[in-house]
Amino acid sequence: MTAAEEIDHDLAGPHPIRSELIDGRAAAKELKDEVRVGVEQLRSVGVTCGLATIMVGEDYAAGAYERRLRRLAADLAIGYRHYWLAAEAGAEDVHRVVRQLNADPAVHGILLLRPLPAHIAEPELFAQLDPHKDIEALHPENVGLLALGTPRYVPSTPASVFHLLDGWLDSTGRDRARFYRGATIVVVGRSNNVGKPAIALGQERQAVVVSCDEWASHTGCLAEHTLRADVLVVAAGVPNLISAEHVSEGAVVVDVGINPVTDPDTGRTRLVGDVDLPAVLHLTRAATPVPGGVGPVTDVWLMRNIVLAARAATGSAGSGGRDDRG
Ligand code: NAD
Repeated sequence: MTAAEEIDHDLAGPHPIRSELIDGRAAAKELKDEVRVGVEQLRSVGVTCGLATIMVGEDYAAGAYERRLRRLAADLAIGYRHYWLAAEAGAEDVHRVVRQLNADPAVHGILLLRPLPAHIAEPELFAQLDPHKDIEALHPENVGLLALGTPRYVPSTPASVFHLLDGWLDSTGRDRARFYRGATIVVVGRSNNVGKPAIALGQERQAVVVSCDEWASHTGCLAEHTLRADVLVVAAGVPNLISAEHVSEGAVVVDVGINPVTDPDTGRTRLVGDVDLPAVLHLTRAATPVPGGVGPVTDVWLMRNIVLAARAATGSAGSGGRDDRG
């Protein structure tokens, strides 16, 4: 069979659309069971996995994320510490906390909760992290390893995107490699922690990967790009950015966005994605909801990276800490 014949031609042909919601909570539960085994294996040799999070200033979504991680760490018996600094804290104050955690053997992974105040330069802060404790792969060394296709850690959010896609492909009986080689993946959003690593993971799967950011919207070209997508990954942080005019029939849509929206009548805040799901669902082959899609898997994947980091740091049994999945 030639390479041309190996692609998944099922992507191209006409087919009745039977849209499916991809259940992130179920995928997260399964992954959590695996992570729990890893945590217990380490505990049996005297190692308690440890996570530390750092937040600077206040942010609704980051605060909600921190609380979820605290609960999940407690559930998995992973040691957890949270450091909060006021929004006025200087870069050196944050660097000092990072250096202190770098030197602490009880901490295997450090998570910097974003957004950070504008006066703190992210690249300089990321470079302060011990690359072995940089479980979100933001240190230049880890960014490079990911770009080379040999990641130490696959960052949790883009890893979860592909974990859900892989699981959906398996559930439909499609061959992953054939699917990705024949697919155009369009990634909306190009942040260092989500969009860019998602591009790298798509390229690693030999897909055609198209990347667009806010300029595609400003220049009125967003739909032109997104309509090419067999797989549309949206991580822009803009509620309802993606509507029916952006989605081709048969596309798989993965919504990464988590946006707090306050109801003007009740004053209550709820979280919504970047995709207007009711408007696009009839077009999609499969789509992830918000909440209940990428988010729950991201939380667990982060804990999975903690287990990898603890194994590598302690020389304990299991994989050497270099990730082979995502
Ligand atoms: P970010 O602000 O760092 O980056 C946003 C990116 O989207 C930028 O590249 C920007 O140019 C682009 N963008 C902004 N407006 C756009 C527009 N109108 N059209 C096209 N592109 C646009 O954000 P981030 O950290 O990448 O997060 C993106 C979203 O994903 C947020 O809602 C965040 O809360 C969410 N998030 C979810 C998870 C999860 O686990 N589900 C994890 C991390 C982030």
